[in-house]
Amino acid sequence: MVKATVKKSEGRAVFPTPGHDHDRCASDAIAHAEATCAAHKEKLTPIRRRVLEALLANHAPLGAYELIDRLAQDGEKEGARPAPITIYRALDFLREQGLVHRIESRNSFIACAHKHESDDPVVFLICEKCGAVGESASAAVADTIKSASRAAGFTPKTPVIEISGVCVNCKAA
Ligand SMILES: [Zn+2]
Ligand SMILES: [Zn+2]
Ligand SMILES: [Zn+2]
Repeated sequence: MVKATVKKSEGRAVFPTPGHDHDRCASDAIAHAEATCAAHKEKLTPIRRRVLEALLANHAPLGAYELIDRLAQDGEKEGARPAPITIYRALDFLREQGLVHRIESRNSFIACAHKHESDDPVVFLICEKCGAVGESASAAVADTIKSASRAAGFTPKTPVIEISGVCVNCKAA
């Protein structure tokens, strides 16, 4: 019983419950982005901030064109629909800063849920039901992959692992 409770709360840490205080997630992430940019002597320009805010709307990834649609929707105050190149440049910047990740298997982007270095290994847990993506940084998994790669004479770069399945919230439902 106790064991099950611990396991559940661990799952929730990676996949926040639908009713969690997401405003806090989003404002924490923006604060972290500002601090990261300041530390790297880079600027979180208005477009970079808007792209990050759009990705922080929830814990599901967005494709580049979905992102453009989101920005165009609240674009009345900001002007015209952003060009794809503008969005891709902002995404490239945010990825370089480790604030956004690309989910290769979905061809989409997600705001980083952890405050880790940009070259840290990352395991993405992708829910097939609700589309949420949990981010679990696992040094142990990364070490295993690195040593397996080296045993094959292969030089690994940043390991990114994507695993499809069912998240803790969908499993409970
Ligand atoms: Zn949240
Ligand atoms: Zn991350
Ligand atoms: Zn789910």
